[in-house]
Amino acid sequence: MKKNAMIQWGLVAVLGAALAAVAMLLRPDASLAKPEASPFFPSPQPISGAASPTFLSVGTTTQPIQAAGGVPDRLVLVNSNHPWTGGTPQGLCTIAQQISCQNIRLKNKEMRAQSEAVLALQQMADAMAAEGAGPLIIVSAYRSVDYQDKLFQNKVQRVIASGTPMSNAEQVASQEVTRPGDSEHHTGYAFDLAGTDNLLDSFAGSDQERWLLENGPKYGFVIRYPSDKTEVTGIIHEPWHIRYVGAEAASDMQRLGMCLEEYVER
Ligand SMILES: [Zn+2]
Repeated sequence: MKKNAMIQWGLVAVLGAALAAVAMLLRPDASLAKPEASPFFPSPQPISGAASPTFLSVGTTTQPIQAAGGVPDRLVLVNSNHPWTGGTPQGLCTIAQQISCQNIRLKNKEMRAQSEAVLALQQMADAMAAEGAGPLIIVSAYRSVDYQDKLFQNKVQRVIASGTPMSNAEQVASQEVTRPGDSEHHTGYAFDLAGTDNLLDSFAGSDQERWLLENGPKYGFVIRYPSDKTEVTGIIHEPWHIRYVGAEAASDMQRLGMCLEEYVER
């Protein structure tokens, strides 16, 4: 009988220890059972979501950055058939902080662009100035989709004010200002240049344009919307808009007489 009693007490002790262990195991889960208390969770989420709070963080801008997957490819094609979906791209820098301003003039100090392109821009501007064709005047670089939307809506309003029916205004506006999402300025690889009077229109026929057409590709830049490719690009001749694609691709495009659409889809 004594022996049986000892076995019974032993069983109780083992059972008790097992219950205590289970209780200990359950405790961490209990603390995760209130995800709504965390700022990362705007609404109650299942416990499984607690393992990856980064992807559930509050705000609308974080997820597109994640989706962009790093610095955009130099040859990324953005046009009305291939809209930009990468949000704010990685790899942007503030141009004014990366360059010596001697041979480059900036419309404002806040402009941003891809670091690699800015480095190439400085080398190109130095060569341009050394050959007497400088300076390089930049009036526009990276543009967010939201900012492009503002530019586009402003254009739509001006088109309506000039007498175009509202139903046709967006179509007319899109011939001169790219629709938000369709601009390669969203990548950080595009720049608009001006003539020495700081106007886009006076870039055409300038020393800078002549020099760039011949020498830009050595530094990785192409005139993106030439007059003989409007059918392919869908964009009017924009002598002032240059695009960084890297020296190898730019030289190939120059040699083959191809615009970016033709080059990446060849
Ligand atoms: Zn442009």
